[in-house]
Amino acid sequence: MELVHVLKEFMLTQAVSGYEENMARKMHSYLGAYTKQIEVDRAGNVIATFPGTDKDAPSVMVFAHMDQLGFIVRKIEPNGLIQVDRLGGIPEKVLPGLEVTIRTIDNGAVQGVFGNKSHHATSADEKYKVDLVTSLFIDIGARSKQDVLDLGVHVGCPVSYTPNFRQLQGTMVSGTAIDNRGACAVLVKLAEAIANLKHPSTIYVVGTVWEEFSIRGAIFAARAKKPDLAIGLDVALPGDTPDLSSRYDIGLGKGPTVTLYNFHGRGTLNGTIAHNGLYKHALRSSEALDIPLQEFAALGMLTDCAYVQLEGNYIGCLDMGFPVRYTHSPVETCDLQDLENLTKIVVHMVQNIDKNFKIGRYCIE
Ligand SMILES: [Zn+2]
Repeated sequence: MELVHVLKEFMLTQAVSGYEENMARKMHSYLGAYTKQIEVDRAGNVIATFPGTDKDAPSVMVFAHMDQLGFIVRKIEPNGLIQVDRLGGIPEKVLPGLEVTIRTIDNGAVQGVFGNKSHHATSADEKYKVDLVTSLFIDIGARSKQDVLDLGVHVGCPVSYTPNFRQLQGTMVSGTAIDNRGACAVLVKLAEAIANLKHPSTIYVVGTVWEEFSIRGAIFAARAKKPDLAIGLDVALPGDTPDLSSRYDIGLGKGPTVTLYNFHGRGTLNGTIAHNGLYKHALRSSEALDIPLQEFAALGMLTDCAYVQLEGNYIGCLDMGFPVRYTHSPVETCDLQDLENLTKIVVHMVQNIDKNFKIGRYCIE
């Protein structure tokens, strides 16, 4: 199975944070093809275990979040229009005029659109201001609140951009939820590769829940499996568009990424400073395979690694990933080569962790 096919299937699968079941089923089926040791924990994390050959080698968890951001139905108007709140970091600038899909209480799908105030009646000032999601409404074509309820759309139902996938020029692809289905596709290819390899470490390949909601879903897998090390795969922000060129160096098609630092201070106060041993290990793999690795550091971002590292007596964590343009919009864009190369580097890394690998942050004897 080619990575792009898995990616496309995952991008077209709706799985808003807290409603990951459709993605969890797919991950379970894909990962389950490569190991008999596969389970879904109580929260919905899909955990595939690949036992190592040396019980003294540190175990490693490689994970990626399966969920995507979206909205939650907040109020249904008497005339059948629907109001929503954000579930995750929605860029409100992109919303008016978008197609959305509402997940019903029975896991069905209802199509709708975010209306915008008719352009002909929009005043000059209104044209240049962003409408908050709370001032927009979704139109599913219903005539009344009862119509909406009869379709199984209730307060609390999840909504997302209508899933889409398109191939752009060359190896570029664009669409919904490349964050983080790109990394989920990498997990599938990783599982496929390590299923046929001998590796000293026990490797847990895990699709996680709740990242876009609370950034803490991976905790349950870390608590259950108690890995010594963890590698989280997620997006990084490239600086190869005019709006970010003064801020970041990395670019699409120039290699997978390794994040040395991230931190989120707006009410969260957490982040990840890379585990040095894992970072050096990533550099060694990049050199051995002659695949460039792009170094990334960013304020205002946070991943599950920030919480996974706090489990037990500390789990050495490294954020790796791939550059994605236009994050959290319905046209996220990435280069398939970065995903292929991320897979190769992570396969090489997990295969080459042995009992001499230092799991502490410092090696003071
Ligand atoms: Zn993400």
